[in-house]
Amino acid sequence: MPVFRARVLSPVGPREIDYWEDGVVVVEDQWITEVGPYDGLPIDEDLRPGLLTPGFVDGHVHFPQARIVGAASGPLLRWLERSVFPEEARFADVEYASAVAREFCDALARAGTTLALIYGSVHAEACQCLLEELDRRGLRAIVGPVLMDQGAPPELLRPKERALADLAALEERWRDHPRLKIAVIPRFALSCSEEMMRAAAALASERGLWVSTHISENLEECQLTRDRFSAPDYLEVYERVGLIHERTVLAHCIHLSAGEWDRVAGAGSVVAHCPDSNAFLGSGSMPIAEALSREVPLTLGSDVAAGRSLRIPTAMAYAHDNGLRTNERLDPRQLLWWGTRGGAQALGHDQVGALRVGMVADMVLHALPERIQGEEAVLASLLFDGDRPAPLRTWVGGREL
Ligand SMILES: [Zn+2]
Repeated sequence: MPVFRARVLSPVGPREIDYWEDGVVVVEDQWITEVGPYDGLPIDEDLRPGLLTPGFVDGHVHFPQARIVGAASGPLLRWLERSVFPEEARFADVEYASAVAREFCDALARAGTTLALIYGSVHAEACQCLLEELDRRGLRAIVGPVLMDQGAPPELLRPKERALADLAALEERWRDHPRLKIAVIPRFALSCSEEMMRAAAALASERGLWVSTHISENLEECQLTRDRFSAPDYLEVYERVGLIHERTVLAHCIHLSAGEWDRVAGAGSVVAHCPDSNAFLGSGSMPIAEALSREVPLTLGSDVAAGRSLRIPTAMAYAHDNGLRTNERLDPRQLLWWGTRGGAQALGHDQVGALRVGMVADMVLHALPERIQGEEAVLASLLFDGDRPAPLRTWVGGREL
């Protein structure tokens, strides 16, 4: 039963946090059994002036792009062609995939990310390598190979039957895992036939799986999608085939119309906001007010490698900047919420994301100079100090990674 004395910061609600300058967190098995101001309890570890926070949640990240961070060959469609597809093709080699899986899991733990929704390459074997590594490390994740049967180099295409059979087999293999889940991930409309998307949606519904895809990221992509599917708007392409529901995570959502936002909200779908990626590829600024006013559940995405950092506090800082560009000044507590508890809830993980009694102990220890004191300054440093060192330690389910 480790008893930690530390500075403790945790979200309580979207704009409410708890902060204790001298706090205590008690972990029993995987559960948090006590948290609050330090009360004289005999301690196992004094972590002060270090700061304990919940682990971070990354709602959108690409495993097979881990080695191409910083490829500035955008915009989106050109970047996919020049940088992404050649790299993702390498994941046909299981040894290559295993090596990158080790690097990627190291990097997630180092970033303090304890739960992530991860896109794989098209290769089920590479996805299996990643799942084994995530399992070995003890991370929490929702993972799937991307589905593509058109619009990419031939070596990256999989016919619908084979792709879905591989996915179904993977799901059967990992079904009972306590921390890892399989997701259905049609990459985006331009890389899928309507039949592929329909069959993928059916598999997800049948087995109660999470769905994720990209939508409305780049204006050229939006136009090509509407033309190819003869649709009045982008969202309808996914609605027609049954991909839009409360277990769907939609990445980007930059150029949605007001009507599309209404339908996303009505369906209860989740938005993965990827502000760094949106800026780096020049895709545009996501109108965050549209999501806020409709109370759309939201998670932050690093979107590595279109995003340049796996660190979710960095995504929070970029989300702040994105907010200002769209005339919305966001409360830092709101940003913390999206990157922890709010993001976890949006992804169906109700037991993690906050340091509270009865919750599972997914936590991160941050170095923090003693001179930074008080809730506001500590939160500002955590989110906005671009030179802050990487987290010191990370725990998932009470177990240190
Ligand atoms: Zn993405």
